[in-house]
Amino acid sequence: MNPSAYTRNARYNLALSFTAQGHDIELPVILLRGANPGRTLVVTAGVHGDEYEGVRAILELTAELDPAAMSGDLLCIPVCNPPAFWNVSRSSPLDDGNLARVFPGNPEGSPTEAIAWHIDQHILAHADFYIDLHSAGVRCLMPTMVGYESGDARAEAAAGIFGAPVIWAHDTIARGRTVSAARARGIPWLYTEARGAGRIHPDDLAVYRNGVHRLLQHLSILPGAPPQSIPEHYLYGDGNIDDSITTSRKGFLIPEVDLLDTVTKGQTLGTLRGLHGEILETFTAPRNGVVALIHICPLINSGDPLFLVTGIREQ
Ligand SMILES: [Zn+2]
Repeated sequence: MNPSAYTRNARYNLALSFTAQGHDIELPVILLRGANPGRTLVVTAGVHGDEYEGVRAILELTAELDPAAMSGDLLCIPVCNPPAFWNVSRSSPLDDGNLARVFPGNPEGSPTEAIAWHIDQHILAHADFYIDLHSAGVRCLMPTMVGYESGDARAEAAAGIFGAPVIWAHDTIARGRTVSAARARGIPWLYTEARGAGRIHPDDLAVYRNGVHRLLQHLSILPGAPPQSIPEHYLYGDGNIDDSITTSRKGFLIPEVDLLDTVTKGQTLGTLRGLHGEILETFTAPRNGVVALIHICPLINSGDPLFLVTGIREQ
């Protein structure tokens, strides 16, 4: 797929279609070709199938924006993992694949690996800047935030105008993410998280919509200068949900902290209870920091991410 092959000053509903190990996959693609030349912003959502804020932000923004006012392109995939999306699940029911761990993918691999390859080759390859809209999914709670890799000044500047109440600078980035693939291509990137829990909070939708609009201004694709925003929290540290505190048991979780609470090392975060109320396990903070994820669905299975504690950026 080559956006430059499409006539300027128009909106296009496109699709990336392919077959992976016998499964027919079709990714929805929306292209807004600006009237004038300029940069290309790539926006994706639905990398995890149970995260909806970014999907709606893309559907609404692309319907409202006028290509005649744009200098450059907006290239979007509102749902990157349709099998997971239609299954209301983080991972794909076809191969149990987590699309955020298999980039840059493999065209001959599993359906999830093939999706990653097609997104990397056909969509990310055209980006001057990339943003991947995630959220906490149906079972977890995360702050409404924009994240970037510490040390990338282009991404840090963009995070500063996005307008999320929380900015999270990461010192390490997990392999296989969409943003790892962008990084390998030298493309500056951001990603977002929000409250999730299977709904779309109107405040989160507004942050995502306004944030992408501001990013288009920041990249001079839309006219006007976005305002600098001052976050309520500036976090620093690893953000890999796979490294969250977890358990090998199943049970009922009773948290004793709230999202964004400041905690000290050894402080109790919550307890896992059996169905007579007995304490099966007590979870404590592994470090001084801030609570950045809570498993808000009380039903816990072995391996679920329960809590994530990260640091605060030194000002
Ligand atoms: Zn996600």
